[in-house]
Amino acid sequence: MDKKIKIHIFEVGKVCVSPALPFGGQNCSLIKASGIFTRKSKRMWLPVSSYLIEHPKGKILVDCGWDRSMSPCRIYDRHAQIKSLGSPILYFVNQGVVDKTIDEYLKDMNIKTSDLDYVLLTHLDCDHANGLNQVKDAKRIMTAKDEMNFALKHSFVRYQKKWWKDINIHLFDWKDQAGPFLKSYDLFNDHSIELINIPGHSDGLFAVKITNDEGKYVLLYSDGGYARKSWEKLIPSGVAANRKDQMKSLKWIKEMSENDLCVASLANHEKTNQKIIVI
Ligand SMILES: [Zn+2]
Repeated sequence: MDKKIKIHIFEVGKVCVSPALPFGGQNCSLIKASGIFTRKSKRMWLPVSSYLIEHPKGKILVDCGWDRSMSPCRIYDRHAQIKSLGSPILYFVNQGVVDKTIDEYLKDMNIKTSDLDYVLLTHLDCDHANGLNQVKDAKRIMTAKDEMNFALKHSFVRYQKKWWKDINIHLFDWKDQAGPFLKSYDLFNDHSIELINIPGHSDGLFAVKITNDEGKYVLLYSDGGYARKSWEKLIPSGVAANRKDQMKSLKWIKEMSENDLCVASLANHEKTNQKIIVI
């Protein structure tokens, strides 16, 4: 049996935000981060990523990106977005466009969504969970119980329940003790796929640490930082549920990313030329 782990990186659309949202720093106000008063010309487009991990124990998808209904004709479509997101507020904070959705990538690889053993939602923000419906046939869909509780507390402004309506999501408790808050979930109980709580951006946000037999690992830190410079220079995002936790998580990402055993450390919203990593 092939013991290598393959990680495919897909760009499943783009998101347009005020620069203060990804790189606002510790003293950024939520209003500034929301970009409601930021001129269009000052906004920036960032990629939205989704990952497929081909692991000896199964196929694992990390995050779903946008739904096709965000841009039915693959171009920017204001009306369609507001309908897809379910809220004009969310449209003002982040506009999106999607050329290729996650299920379209999988189809090209001859993978049926029902072949996915796991779909892991690192957190429930729209650019990660809006596309969930496209992979709803996966065998098991998971997110942290802490994240769902946080989303339900902030539904309407930041989240819309309709993204996961009628979808059976398994909510897990942290049962292991890795990471900055000693809260993690070891998927196969062998340290090869660990979901590690990095709260701050949202309560239940987790990084995915993928480790091979030699101890070498790839870290997908999702929105724990928006780019490499976020942890290099310790610049947290403007959107935060808890500033103190966010900084502690970012410092942990830095430490993990600088470790010699780290093969790659990827932010969900940073452009990368890598399409596949094998460890
Ligand atoms: Zn995001």
